[in-house]
Amino acid sequence: MEYAITADEIGHDVVLFERDETLGGAMDWAGNYAALPNMEMLSYQPKYHRKMIEKSSVDVRLGVDADVAAIMAEAPDVVVIATGAQPIAAPFEGLDAARASGFAIRIDDAMRRDNPPVIGMRVIIYGAGEGAELALDLKLRGHEVRLIDAGPAYAPANYIGSRVWAIMGMMAHVGLAVEPGHSLARLADGSAVFTTAGGETSVEADTVVICSVRRALNALEKALQSQPVSLHVVGDARTPRSYANAIHEAAYLSRQVR
Ligand SMILES: Cc1cc2nc3c(=O)[nH]c(=O)nc-3n(C[C@H](O)[C@H](O)[C@H](O)COP(=O)(O)OP(=O)(O)OC[C@H]3O[C@@H](n4cnc5c(N)ncnc54)[C@H](O)[C@@H]3O)c2cc1C
Repeated sequence: MEYAITADEIGHDVVLFERDETLGGAMDWAGNYAALPNMEMLSYQPKYHRKMIEKSSVDVRLGVDADVAAIMAEAPDVVVIATGAQPIAAPFEGLDAARASGFAIRIDDAMRRDNPPVIGMRVIIYGAGEGAELALDLKLRGHEVRLIDAGPAYAPANYIGSRVWAIMGMMAHVGLAVEPGHSLARLADGSAVFTTAGGETSVEADTVVICSVRRALNALEKALQSQPVSLHVVGDARTPRSYANAIHEAAYLSRQVR
């Protein structure tokens, strides 16, 4: 979105494809923590960008899952891939059934603003890197929360930066601790089984929220490599990081492309 706005200001004709029905990407839901102070400000950035898009002459095509054909139909000189990141597929036994029944949900769904799924009273958050803030939020909202991670210790997602100290302070304050060294092995309705150094352990819950590590979603880069276009990748599609990185890369690139 940032690239489209700046390139438009510079005078390029810009088409922006977005597969969702709204612009904003992950930042639209990333700060959706009802009980955590100051997090709502994360949504100000996509709100600002949507406002700037409205004022621009960018040709926005919502609901379009852009592929090579759709992109090349525009006969572009320059293609910028800003498709973000996606959770690494997690092949836990019973995952499909647990997702179908609503017992297991992804953090992307747990935090979505429209029609979020019901989260039960006893919650397992699996993946502390991205899940610690949601765990805190749910704890503050009165849920019983277990924050479980496969790694040897809490390792915050890279967008967390210096607020890790606030997160760790709040965790200590509300009595929430990461339980490291637990690899999710399988899910059944009502329980999650983890492999630990001491063997298997089963934890009962009403909801399991899966917060997997993300990887770049940039298959379009390879697919477009043989096309006669100037091709660029920005933001999480390059490497999952923070919105500051995504915005900076897009703004910088838009001033380089002629
Ligand atoms: C839980 C969570 C909390 C976070 N909190 C913070 C934070 O506090 N601070 C911070 O700086 N960062 C935070 N981040 C990271 C931040 O959200 C990302 O770094 C940022 O959104 C990356 O922007 P992007 O434009 O590269 O990708 P995205 O925001 O993922 O946007 C990619 C867009 O491309 C669209 N798309 C994908 N494929 C196609 C296709 N083929 N055709 C059309 N459209 C497509 C997607 O629908 C999406 O709208 C958080 C992330 C998560 C998951």
